[in-house]
Amino acid sequence: MPGLSSPQRLAPVGVDGRPVLFASLMNALILQAASLWRSSRCAIALTGAGISVPSGIPDFRSPKGLWSRFNPDLVASSWALDHDPRAVWEFLLDALRLFSAASPNPAHQALVRLEKAGLLEAIITQNIDGLHEQAGSGRVVEFHGNCRKFYCNGCRRAYPADRAARLKPEDLPWLCDHCGRVIRPDLVFFGEAIPSRAMSEAQRLTARADLVVIIGTSGDVAPANAIPEHVKQGGGRVLEINLGPTSYGDLADVRLDLPAEECLPALVEVLEQS
Ligand SMILES: [Zn+2]
Repeated sequence: MPGLSSPQRLAPVGVDGRPVLFASLMNALILQAASLWRSSRCAIALTGAGISVPSGIPDFRSPKGLWSRFNPDLVASSWALDHDPRAVWEFLLDALRLFSAASPNPAHQALVRLEKAGLLEAIITQNIDGLHEQAGSGRVVEFHGNCRKFYCNGCRRAYPADRAARLKPEDLPWLCDHCGRVIRPDLVFFGEAIPSRAMSEAQRLTARADLVVIIGTSGDVAPANAIPEHVKQGGGRVLEINLGPTSYGDLADVRLDLPAEECLPALVEVLEQS
């Protein structure tokens, strides 16, 4: 692989104006990550809120996130669906507007390229924003569901997503035409179980994977946070791409404390050259 012995080769990628030392460090870490990736046979990605922040969706739990304005127990729980559908829909309308204004960023697009190159088996995401699918990723396990499908929480009748997109504050709460119960998106509310299909697919992937790439998730939300540990226990390895300290501690074999939207495209570039 000509040229890769020189980390400076990647210096222009997303590091314009930064000190040379930073660029060299970033490039050295990316080469380490690429080496780890190349030696794997089945890589999976585990993504969370951090990958969508550059798309304009603040982490729900961050100071600018939705949980700074809404109490999740009162608007996104199984209790709220039964007792306060208006509060649920006031929150959902805000969330849906946020998601519809967002587009996939270079980190989402890099994962699409990796899958197409046969270097990524699947993505397990905790995000409900649909950006992996919008970017064009083929195999995405949406661990917490999505906001593309809607159904009645009582009679389970399906409702089209374009009706949700047209809802105005005066239409709230959105109730079933047939039984009057609240209509909900196909996502996992607090107090509800992970859908069995997503859980079993994630378990199958976790059992097969020999590399898990953690991207933009600090490892605080169970049960998805246990996936990297399971891969590691099975003899696999862990690549972590996260900003700042996380609950994964020193679990990762290689850790990139760098913005995913910068280092993932750079990593793809190295891997595509191999
Ligand atoms: Zn109904």
